[in-house]
Amino acid sequence: MTDAPSTPVSRTRLNELAQQVTPLDERELLPVRAPYDDSVVGEVPLCTPEDVRSAVADAQSAGEAWAAWPIEDRTAVFARFHDAVLDRREALLDVIQTETGKARADALEEILDVAATARYYANLAERELASKQRAGAIPLVTKAVEHHHPVGVVGIISPWNYPLSLSVSESIPALLAGNAVVLKPDEGTPFTALWALDVLRECGLPDDVFQVVTGEGPRLGEPLIEGVDYVSFTGSTEVGRTVAETAGRHLTDCSLELGGKNPLLVLDDADVEKAARGAVRGCFANAGQLCISIERIYVHEAVADEFRDAFVRETRGLTLDAGYDYGHDVGSLLDRELLEKVEAHVEDAVEKGATVLSGGRARPDLGPYFYEPTILTDVTPDATLADEETFGPVVSLYEVESVSEAIERANDSAYGLNASVWTERTQRGEQVAARLETGTVNVNEAYAAAWASIDAPMGGMKDSGVGRRHGRHGLLKYTESQTVATQRLGLLSPPKRGKQVWADGATLGLRLWKRLSEVLP
Ligand code: NAD
Repeated sequence: MTDAPSTPVSRTRLNELAQQVTPLDERELLPVRAPYDDSVVGEVPLCTPEDVRSAVADAQSAGEAWAAWPIEDRTAVFARFHDAVLDRREALLDVIQTETGKARADALEEILDVAATARYYANLAERELASKQRAGAIPLVTKAVEHHHPVGVVGIISPWNYPLSLSVSESIPALLAGNAVVLKPDEGTPFTALWALDVLRECGLPDDVFQVVTGEGPRLGEPLIEGVDYVSFTGSTEVGRTVAETAGRHLTDCSLELGGKNPLLVLDDADVEKAARGAVRGCFANAGQLCISIERIYVHEAVADEFRDAFVRETRGLTLDAGYDYGHDVGSLLDRELLEKVEAHVEDAVEKGATVLSGGRARPDLGPYFYEPTILTDVTPDATLADEETFGPVVSLYEVESVSEAIERANDSAYGLNASVWTERTQRGEQVAARLETGTVNVNEAYAAAWASIDAPMGGMKDSGVGRRHGRHGLLKYTESQTVATQRLGLLSPPKRGKQVWADGATLGLRLWKRLSEVLP
C-alpha cells in the first residue's frame, strides 16, 4: 500500500470539537478512524442513555426560550450559517474527508447542499410558519385560523455517508421551526456534526438548543426516541423498522429516510454518450455509498451495445485514490464491514453467472477499503445483489426489449427511493416518470437534479421510507398544527325545538354551497 495522506485536521481541533459533548476525561472514549489508512484520528465520548436523557432535558429548557425568539432573529442565525459554511469550505472538506474517506468533490456536494438548505429555509420559514386564515364551517360566521407550533425537542439520527447533509440539513428546518434538536450522528462520523454545532453557536444559536450525543446507535436510540417529540431517522431500512417500532410505542411522530435499489432507464432515443456520463455519476458518486445512487440499469436493446461501450469506457476513465484535494474521482469505502459486503455481493453474482465488464476487485494498494467502480452484466435473479442494496460502487446492466419492460422491471423492487430516465424527448421522460414507483425521478440526470430542487419533496415509497424531507413539508413536519375556530354567531348544533326546520335548512344550505362552489372560481 502506498503511504496514505495524513489528515490535515489537527488532533487538538478534533479534541476541542469532542469536548462540546461532555468533558473527555469523564467518559469512556470511542475512537474515530480515517478510512484512507484506518488510523485513529480522534476520540469522542461514548455517551450513556443517561447522557441522552440529560441532553433532551437541557434541550427542552433551552428550546422554550428559542421558540419565543422572533422568527426574523431565528432566520438570521441560518443566514449567517450559510455564509460561515461557504467561508470555511476548505476546513470543513478536510473534516468530512478525514472521517468518511470520500473524494473531495463528493464532500463538496454536502457543503453546497447545507448552504442551499440554510438559505432556502431561512427564506421560507417566516411565510410558512405564519398563522393562516382558513375557510370556516359557515362563511363569515365561523372564523378558522391554522397555527403552527414547534413540536418541542426533535431527535435526529443520521448515517455516515453524508455526515454533514444528513445531520445538518435535517436539523435546519427543525431549529427554524422553533424546536430544540438532539442529534445522534453515526459512530464513525461524529466530527462533522460537531464542527457544525461549533459554527452554529458562533452564528448565534443559543447554547443547549442544539445538542449532539455521540455513541452507539442501538444503546442510545431507545432513550432518544423515548424522550423526544419527533424523530427524524436516516439510515438502513432494517434499523428504520426498529426506530418506527419504538416511536410507535411512544406515539411519537417520525420520518424515515431509508435504503434504495435505484434504477436508471436508457430509452431507445437517448443521447447515449450523455446517458453514459450521467450513469457514471449516478453509480459511482461517493463510491456508490449514496442512498439515491443507481444500482440497476435497464437499457433498450436498440442502444444497448452503444451505451454499454460508452459506459464501460467512461467508468474505466475514473481515477481512484486517497487525497485531500480534487485530484481523484472516487474515494474509499467507509470500513471493512462495507468492503466485505461489496466483495461478497460481487462474488456471489459472479458465481451465479454474472460477467464483470469493469472493476470487480478491491484495491488494497490504495488503502484498506478501496474498491473499483464495477459494472456487471448477465446478473441472474437469484444473485443477492439483484434485489438487495449493495451501497457500494457496483451496478448491474440489463438489456430490455421495450420501455414497458424497463418500467415493469424497475418497479419490481421492495424499494422506491429514486430513479433516472434518459431520453431526448423530455415529455416522454416525464410520462415514464409518472409510471415509476419512486419518490423522486430524474429525467436526463441521475440524482442531483431532484435532490438539489429543495423546494420539492424528497423521500421514499415502499420500503424506502415514510414521510418526506425538503419543501414546505420538510419544515411543517417539525410543527404541531393547531386550528382555532371562533364562532361569531349562534351555535352549530340543532336548537332545542325546531329540529326539523334546522335539518331542512342545513340540507338546503349544503346543496346551495355545492352549487356555488361549482360556479365560483
Ligand atoms: P444504519 O441504519 O446502520 O445507521 C444509521 C444510524 O442509525 C446511525 O447513526 C446508527 O448509529 C443508528 N442506529 C443503529 N442502530 C440503531 C438503533 N437500534 N436505534 C436507533 N439508532 C440506531 O445505516 P448506515 O449503514 O449508517 O447507512 C446506510 C443506509 O442508510 C443505507 O441503507 C442507505 O441507503 C441509507 N440512507 C438513506 C438515505 C435517505 O435519504 N433515504 C440517505 C442516506 C443513507
